[in-house]
Amino acid sequence: MQSYTKISNLFILYVFKDMKRQFAYIFFVLFGLVVTGCTSEDPAFTLSQNNFSNISPEGGTLSIDIRTSSTWTATSLNDDWCNVYPSSGTGNGTIRIEVEGNLSADRNATVVIFCDNERSEINIAQTALPEGQELTYRIPVIFHVLYKDAADDYQYVSATRIRQVLDNVNAYYDGTPVWTGGDTPQDVNLEFVLAETDEEGNELEIPGVEYVQWNQMPIDCESFMSSSSERILNLMWDMNKYINIVLYNFSDYGDGSVIMGISHLPLSTAGTNYLEGLQAVEYTHLENDNLGYPQCVSINSLYFYEDTPARCYNPMDANVTLAHELGHYLGLHHAFNEDDEESDGLGKDCTDSDYCEDTPPYNRYVYGLWLSHYYQESKLPMEAFQREDCNTGDTFLSYNLMDYEISFSDRFTPDQRARMRHVLEYSPLIPGAKRISSTTRMAPAGVLDIPVIYKKCVKYSVGLKKK
Ligand SMILES: [Zn+2]
Repeated sequence: MQSYTKISNLFILYVFKDMKRQFAYIFFVLFGLVVTGCTSEDPAFTLSQNNFSNISPEGGTLSIDIRTSSTWTATSLNDDWCNVYPSSGTGNGTIRIEVEGNLSADRNATVVIFCDNERSEINIAQTALPEGQELTYRIPVIFHVLYKDAADDYQYVSATRIRQVLDNVNAYYDGTPVWTGGDTPQDVNLEFVLAETDEEGNELEIPGVEYVQWNQMPIDCESFMSSSSERILNLMWDMNKYINIVLYNFSDYGDGSVIMGISHLPLSTAGTNYLEGLQAVEYTHLENDNLGYPQCVSINSLYFYEDTPARCYNPMDANVTLAHELGHYLGLHHAFNEDDEESDGLGKDCTDSDYCEDTPPYNRYVYGLWLSHYYQESKLPMEAFQREDCNTGDTFLSYNLMDYEISFSDRFTPDQRARMRHVLEYSPLIPGAKRISSTTRMAPAGVLDIPVIYKKCVKYSVGLKKK
């Protein structure tokens, strides 16, 4: 617009030298005013805000209005922690900038807006979490509901039920006890939230839920978890941004046992920050394409409507199952002595196989033999909740969510909490702020040689069953 102003002034000077051209003078002055007036009052675009100087260490979502009649693009120059949606548009719109939590140092990001050859920047400054403070994680989850028959509620699970179960799971992670007694429940300072947007930043019609028609039902959950099929891999949303939870009917093994849920364990970066008990990888950052399997949680939707009535025990409780599986996804092993289960089952050893000193190991095989005497009883004895520490012989009541035998199953211990926090802060392919920049050691493109490690949780129904 400056160039138009100069041109019109030149015409004014020229016309003064030649009064015979008065008409032209008036014309060009008017023309010049029209051109300069129009361009100075009507830039290609305006933004409602350009500077955000004090974004908290927790991060969050910024909303900026763009006013224009033209086509525009929005690009983040720091997309490892600051993402902009949508990346382009035409006409008036709202730009959303998502800023991740900050566990490292104070930092700045720039989002560039281009419109009609004009460029503008949105500058964002975020402070780091002060030493000694803890970040509250809010992790987006996406439920992929697989169904063959949309009329079957046990396949096409309702979004209302999904919300209800996730609320109950969050109460377990908040340290809100269901039962009295036992050790103090731990607040993990972590909330699972239903994803509001898809991977492209589009708002989801049903938050946190997508329904996917599947031509096979039921599905063998172990085959699913180790599958390299493109269709299953493509089902997974960006693991660095979402926890993928897949609901489907699990195949029955026909022996009275039921697999309630199954989950992969996370990876851990080798070196200083390695967490024992997890698969080590060389890299600090991976992408979905680096895995040849669908890293996720799978839940048996045949039991997804199961709750525990007051003063009762229900081994099929879906809220407990999901809390338990997410515990695996965040690095927890079973609280009982797993090594004995995997070997001769006679309980000669008493290894603490969950890397948590505050969860006493017990021999699940021996406990199971004892418990089998009660399977025909209508009421469970209180002793069914009791375990014997196979190292010390001390007895204790089981309240632990990672014990899936008869247990109050409503809490985690401090050591379990510490493991989950470590995974949140360091493990690749886990959403949320990390203590090490994702660009430190990025995995090369392509499938890496990483073994598939998952935990399946088998239960024997005690009376309560579907339908
Ligand atoms: Zn388990």
